Amino acid sequence: MKMDYHVHLEEGPYTLKWLERTSKTFASFDIPCELEKGSKEFMEWQVKQLQKRMDYGCFSNFWLDLYLEKAKQLGLKEVGIVDHLYRFKETRDYFEKNMILDSFNPMGQVQSDWLDQVMTESMTDFVEAIVKEKEKWKLQGIDLKLGIEADYFEGCEAELIDLLDGHPWDFVIGSVHFVDGWGFDNPQTAYAFQDFNLKDLYNRFFTTVERAIRSGLFDFVAHLDNLKVFNYQVEDTAFNQKWYETIADALAETGTATEVNAGLYYRYPVKEMCPGPSFLKTLVEREVEFTLSSDSHYPDDLGSYTAENSEKLKELGVKSLVSFDHRVKTYHPI
Ligand SMILES: [Zn+2]
Ligand SMILES: [Zn+2]
Repeated sequence: MKMDYHVHLEEGPYTLKWLERTSKTFASFDIPCELEKGSKEFMEWQVKQLQKRMDYGCFSNFWLDLYLEKAKQLGLKEVGIVDHLYRFKETRDYFEKNMILDSFNPMGQVQSDWLDQVMTESMTDFVEAIVKEKEKWKLQGIDLKLGIEADYFEGCEAELIDLLDGHPWDFVIGSVHFVDGWGFDNPQTAYAFQDFNLKDLYNRFFTTVERAIRSGLFDFVAHLDNLKVFNYQVEDTAFNQKWYETIADALAETGTATEVNAGLYYRYPVKEMCPGPSFLKTLVEREVEFTLSSDSHYPDDLGSYTAENSEKLKELGVKSLVSFDHRVKTYHPI
């Protein structure tokens, strides 16, 4: 079955690069036929679209309808829309407690600015917008699912449960984007990789991923090896393999699924799927369950590489994919 279980609606920081990427989205869908790209009239239309995008916001029909259109084009049957927990103002304390934000520290200043720039929305608005859209998508033959991508921090499990409580999630994704308070996938703080012994860093990272899995809080744990984002990797097969097996066992023993996530493949320097080939093989051998994820942040990236990754899983011998409805797992033949 065709699915994409990891789709974002928006993410700051709100730079000119963000605006340019957003205009690329509009240009990749139907544009009025009389307009020629590069003409003044085309630019006037683009600016009007961008103005509407800013005025109506990312939870509007104006923006969500583009995701629906793309899902129809691709023949997807299930789409899980998520947002990062750190986008919601309700979660401020949770991130302040767990991130390096000290203004006397250069990394702290960068991360503090970043948090202010991305934490712009309300969780309630997001939930209401997606729930409201479900029926419209259903009429077009697509199940729209409500998800959340939650950062896992050791020792803060109870607080996370409280933050997520009371909303009708179809699935909760557990993610590790921070090691000891450092957001390692932020290009502005990537210099910090050079200060670490990579084996120590990967030990810290995978220990956190394993704890996230064993916490039992998540329906699936995302991008299991995203620490490789800027290509800082350990060249020791035995070391890596030991961790792949530890993570695979944790997933299998707890019945927690994972995803094949294309985000790093088409958006980051490493240009590799998560998990990478050897990791993926180990997970399949240990019968871990999978869903598929584009990790798109724009409607035109919806579904990216999900068909290729589905084919890859099939070649490796995987027979079914998992999807989620009100936190109950369903199996679908590939
Ligand atoms: Zn993520
Ligand atoms: Zn994501």
